[in-house]
Amino acid sequence: MTVHQAKICIGCWQQMHVPVPLRGVLSLPFRAFGIRPSKMNPNTCTICELMFTRVMRARKVTIDATVMFADLRGYTSLSQSAPPDAISGVLDAFYDQCADAIWQHDGLLNKTIGDAVMAVFNFPIKTEHHVRNALRAAREIQLRWCLQRETLVEGLGLAGGDLGVGIGIHSGELSFGEFGRSHRDLTAIGTVVNTASRAQSAASADQILVTQEVYRRAQSDLAGSQAKPYQLKGFDAPIELYAA
Ligand SMILES: [Zn+2]
Repeated sequence: MTVHQAKICIGCWQQMHVPVPLRGVLSLPFRAFGIRPSKMNPNTCTICELMFTRVMRARKVTIDATVMFADLRGYTSLSQSAPPDAISGVLDAFYDQCADAIWQHDGLLNKTIGDAVMAVFNFPIKTEHHVRNALRAAREIQLRWCLQRETLVEGLGLAGGDLGVGIGIHSGELSFGEFGRSHRDLTAIGTVVNTASRAQSAASADQILVTQEVYRRAQSDLAGSQAKPYQLKGFDAPIELYAA
């Protein structure tokens, strides 16, 4: 793991100014109470995740954030032709590369949905650079996957030509909190999430598509990028997306 490892939970420090040790001897009494690094981001803790309602004093909060979806293209057809072990190895490798890239840029690996991951930037670790961080994480996923794919394909005797990653990113205000009664789920909901997901669907393998809002806020990282209209499912009018 190449991700910087924080000594205390960055989320708890930012939200409550409470130093919660994540690693080393000081973390041991906390571990006894089940407080450990979060699986969504190892530089935050299970308090941020499991005690969201108590820490935030609300079931949900409205925040300005960036959402990224990354989807492994060609995985479904691979799962029909390759042996099960090989397939789970490919998915594990994909999740690992996504996680490292997301955490390196202070994002939250919020969910894995089949062969896709959803990440949120700007919660619980706050940063004014969340748009740029998401974009950089996306580029790093592409870079890491290009390298990893060659090894996987060689090792497994697969035809890897179409094992590419499609990524979509959108920014704006969304609801973040605990949703659902029987199964409580800490996640983000709202139009921003849906739009990011649709942008991801429109991206081809090895491509990153971002919305106009992302372009506006991270222009220095997107020099030379041209907008093209895309007709996305669930949207009446075509929307402009930029290839990053
Ligand atoms: Zn925490």
